[in-house]
Amino acid sequence: MKVCLFDIDGTLINTGKAGKDAMVAAFLEAAEVTQLDHALHLSGKTDRGIFGELFDLHGKALTEENWQHFIELYLARLEKNLPQRQGLVLEGVVALLAKLSQRDDVLLGLLTGNVERGANLKLIHYGIDHFFSFGGFGDLHPNRNDVARAALEAAEAYYGHPISPRDVYVIGDTPNDILCAQAIGAQSVAVATGVFSISELSEYSPNLLIENLADLDGISSFIFR
Ligand SMILES: [Mg+2]
Repeated sequence: MKVCLFDIDGTLINTGKAGKDAMVAAFLEAAEVTQLDHALHLSGKTDRGIFGELFDLHGKALTEENWQHFIELYLARLEKNLPQRQGLVLEGVVALLAKLSQRDDVLLGLLTGNVERGANLKLIHYGIDHFFSFGGFGDLHPNRNDVARAALEAAEAYYGHPISPRDVYVIGDTPNDILCAQAIGAQSVAVATGVFSISELSEYSPNLLIENLADLDGISSFIFR
């Protein structure tokens, strides 16, 4: 059995900053600060890691209590922002997911830095949640490599049998997606639909490097070669 683990932001969808703006507003409220002291770069990071970093940078102590408070504020903002922004499902995504989900030799899951409830809000808003049965999420892990391990465990629990990491394909738009695939011995498919260019991504030696997910035959022939 093969497993495709999809990143969300910059890979499946672009929320038109609905997520980033929700995160900033939730942080300002949870940390009781008036403005961000530093530029915020989200790509490839986990929600838990981003929030921890923000607290560090602003000299605040991160506790379980303010993490939970932040998440509640973030989810409420995200739900409000999603329909108000000009987001979209990226090119080729729906056709690829539909094609893969018809096969009985591959399972589709998520490998995302989003907290699980945030991931669900985003995917439901864009109508692609039904393609995914399991995933690794950013609720617990500041480091994406740990999310990758959690996603592989979730795939095995769903399937009910061990899965060889060599049969796992991590599809994402950042160097961290490529690196977390390498960390678990999986294969990486890098797409240049986020903030990183083909040449930037190529420095991390992904197994397949493509402009976007519209090349169904190319992706299928790589995964099922
Ligand atoms: Mg991404």
